[in-house]
Amino acid sequence: MLPWRETKDPYMIWLSEIILQQTRVNQGMDYYLRFVARFPDVHQLAAADEQEVMKLWQGLGYYSRARNLLAAARQVENEFGGKFPSGYSELLKLKGVGPYTAAAVASIAYNEPVAVVDGNVSRVLARLYAVHNPVNVPAGEKQISALAGELLNRGNPGDHNQAVMEFGALQCVPVAPDCLACPVQQFCEAYGNDLVTALPVKEKKTRIRNRFFTYLIIKEGEHTYINRRTGNDIWRELYEFPLIEHDTAPGEKEILHAASRLTGLGGSRLTISRLSDPVQHQLTHRRIIARFLHVETGKDLLQAPDHWKRVRFSEVGDHPLPRLIDRYLELNVESPD
Ligand code: SF4
Repeated sequence: MLPWRETKDPYMIWLSEIILQQTRVNQGMDYYLRFVARFPDVHQLAAADEQEVMKLWQGLGYYSRARNLLAAARQVENEFGGKFPSGYSELLKLKGVGPYTAAAVASIAYNEPVAVVDGNVSRVLARLYAVHNPVNVPAGEKQISALAGELLNRGNPGDHNQAVMEFGALQCVPVAPDCLACPVQQFCEAYGNDLVTALPVKEKKTRIRNRFFTYLIIKEGEHTYINRRTGNDIWRELYEFPLIEHDTAPGEKEILHAASRLTGLGGSRLTISRLSDPVQHQLTHRRIIARFLHVETGKDLLQAPDHWKRVRFSEVGDHPLPRLIDRYLELNVESPD
């Protein structure tokens, strides 16, 4: 039994639901247990340092979830007097809480009769009722959500919601469900009309775009430079090495020129130690193709911009890092030279 299925505590349910969005249960479990151990209640999470939360989240991806997690805990503390909001519409006011999470918390923790719709539920309903609208466009979402509401067991909404989600996860799986062994086969319109593989219909996703990054790992004695990402882009609030972004896949010459420009150093004042092969990192709508350029400078040569932070190499890992960089360091850099 999953630990968050054994509790009625809205904080734990909310935490697990946020962690499990876009994350496999096996991977999410470790993070959930770590968060609960470090922050056993919403007050302790609200009082947390953002950097610590981001660090604990490191590796889970979709970092806006971690930022929202902390913002919502602080909302609970400051706007709801430290008590978790107890109704669906109140829950929706929390940062990062959408209809799915609000319905899950309201029905499981408070027995409020609201239907949960996640990917599993929408697949089950699209098949049971032969919904031909794409389930990822507003018309389809509306139809699925109306069906979910009609089907809801209003006397026991928490168990009902969890049961439908589990049914989707274990029985009515995306590919080749075992319909012959299905207990609701006789009511299933997709099965009756030979539409199981055709449903649910989904509108095609946006095309994946490549982004080309070069990271500069600058060795200045025991020190290097990192930089906190800001602005409306991926990995906000995470730290990275000084970055050069290119429009197209760069050649070595282009990388070296850009590194000279970025550091204001060239010739003998910037020693190139190593250029890594391209490393790929897949995000939802982006593929990051990164190379790491290891360079060495003499002491006091570099006029680093103010937003670069000078740290010891041994301290880089104390900062929240994108998985791409963390993995690169793990695999490639014992002592980064
Ligand atoms: Fe899903 Fe097949 Fe059962 Fe229909 S019969 S609900 S498609 S597993």
